[in-house]
Amino acid sequence: MDNKPDKNQVKKIQKEIDNLKKVLRKLELRPCKHDADILQKEKEIEDIKRRVRSLEIRRECCIYTWWKDKLIVYHGNVITQKFHRSTCKYFNWKNCTEIFRARTEAVEAGYAPCSMCKP
Ligand SMILES: [Zn+2]
Repeated sequence: MDNKPDKNQVKKIQKEIDNLKKVLRKLELRPCKHDADILQKEKEIEDIKRRVRSLEIRRECCIYTWWKDKLIVYHGNVITQKFHRSTCKYFNWKNCTEIFRARTEAVEAGYAPCSMCKP
């Protein structure tokens, strides 16, 4: 499959998050002399927190896509007794209601591989 998300991408995002959290801790410890300082500090903290949140969402999406990619699912057509890959146009076809987690599972159930997607 093309452009699959890799673990390195997740690691890279995690590193960015860790760095931002370090900056945040330092920022929180920075002493403030007057009100303007406090306001400025709060603004900076809020900004970093927002960046961390958006990175965390990106990280979750990456992990999710990565796992979804690893999950191999075949759909079997209960009428034609053929099974298909998720990329096949017949994957979500009518009567394609049987779900298999592995190729062997489908074959053992008496299903034949589709001649189009060759699972
Ligand atoms: Zn197919």
